[in-house]
Amino acid sequence: MTERQNTVGRYAPSPTGDLHLGNLRTALIAWLHARVQKGVFLMRMEDVDTARVVAGSDKRLLSDLEWLGLDWDGEVIYQSQRLSMYQDVLADLDEQGLIYPCFCSRKDIRQASSAPHSTLGVYPGTCANLDAVKINELSKIKSPATRVRVPNYLKNDCGDFVLHRADGLFAYQLAVVVDDVKQGVTDVVRGSDLADSTLRQRYLAQLMYRQNPMGRSDAIRYHHVPLVLDDDGNRMSKRDGSFSTQQWRDAGRSAPELVAYLARSLNLIDGINALTANELVNSIELTDIVDVFM
Ligand code: GLU
Repeated sequence: MTERQNTVGRYAPSPTGDLHLGNLRTALIAWLHARVQKGVFLMRMEDVDTARVVAGSDKRLLSDLEWLGLDWDGEVIYQSQRLSMYQDVLADLDEQGLIYPCFCSRKDIRQASSAPHSTLGVYPGTCANLDAVKINELSKIKSPATRVRVPNYLKNDCGDFVLHRADGLFAYQLAVVVDDVKQGVTDVVRGSDLADSTLRQRYLAQLMYRQNPMGRSDAIRYHHVPLVLDDDGNRMSKRDGSFSTQQWRDAGRSAPELVAYLARSLNLIDGINALTANELVNSIELTDIVDVFM
């Protein structure tokens, strides 16, 4: 077995609004997971979906994280500045015949995936084998999305999925994996709402490692944090109208109080009302954090 290198963790928020406490809690646990192991912790803004980006929210988000006492190594990476890298990866996959243009509308996909022998919502590969003439013809009418061919074991779970959207934006699935691989991330810690993406991301990461035989050969580990916060099962999300970090700050509550509140909700501590993020790192062990993962 190859020896694992040091832990490289990351937090990869989308700057689409203010950081609510649920996000902050995920950031805290991702940070703790890296720092308890004396590992590296990276910060990445996932701003490829430009229509959803809210100007200035990146700065507010970083300020909230700093206020809480979290730190990161190196510069903050912005995905919007790495588009040519995603393009290069797509070109590599294209050379290997692993991607293809897809001209289907949402309606086409809905109809095709509800046919007998299909799995609802899973793309059945309608455009997987179009010939060059057909592709040329359809390209004159509309711009295609780009899908990656998945192996049989993934056909029913996710089907060939989109890496580049018809509207010209790179898909989250592509950008996130390219960055995790290129940045040498060993451990992804994120909210359980993204657990469904893991199969797709593992597969893409595998393809990328295959292209880079000199690089790491071991897989990224994915960990998911439940989004339920309290004993009453209240979920911390914007939708449920829960606090933003800013509201907490505006109410004059301190960062150590919030660290303690979040750490109690994760069962990392008991009966403590305030402690700094650094004090928390020094008072817990890796196994305490692993217990939080689903
Ligand atoms: N940018 C994604 C989000 O904010 C998280 C990506 C990830 O952690 O894999 O929902």
